[in-house]
Amino acid sequence: MGKTVFLCAGHHGAGTGAGGFIDEGLECIKLRDDLSHALRGNGVISLIDQNTASLSSVIRNVNDLSTHIDGESVVIDIHFNSFNKKAHGSEVYIHSQTSNSNKEFAKKLVEMTSETLGIHNRGLRTTAQSQHSRLAMLTKIKAPSMIWEICFCDEKTDSEAYIEHRQELIDNFVKLFV
Ligand SMILES: [Zn+2]
Repeated sequence: MGKTVFLCAGHHGAGTGAGGFIDEGLECIKLRDDLSHALRGNGVISLIDQNTASLSSVIRNVNDLSTHIDGESVVIDIHFNSFNKKAHGSEVYIHSQTSNSNKEFAKKLVEMTSETLGIHNRGLRTTAQSQHSRLAMLTKIKAPSMIWEICFCDEKTDSEAYIEHRQELIDNFVKLFV
């Protein structure tokens, strides 16, 4: 049995996340739904969070569901980064104490993202290096988890690459699991 993939939108609705060339709050919901649909179409079990969920209720739900999953699972919290309109590239946050297999998977995810979009690979960041607002996704979730900062939505080249290669990103994401 393959992995069960739990996808969370890092934000829930227009203006609830970062802005710029892409509205993070809207796009992370749309992408979560499109990824989940594509996974299911390829026989991969995929669960998603609810748009009204607070961070603590997302964590509670994921932990409840995780106890019912046989075999491997992974929780991916979807985000678009934002900084100073110049910072660019893809990065993935993991817990510094996460398993080697989860670390390997996170590395594949960030490599796939940077290659598919043709943007800089900023690599893995750990909880020790992070002040991420959703850090609890890494520290309080019992299943292997990661925060996926796909690209910088306030940086033009990253955003254009994402918009252009969005479908390939979905296709290549599915290939990580099949
Ligand atoms: Zn975010």
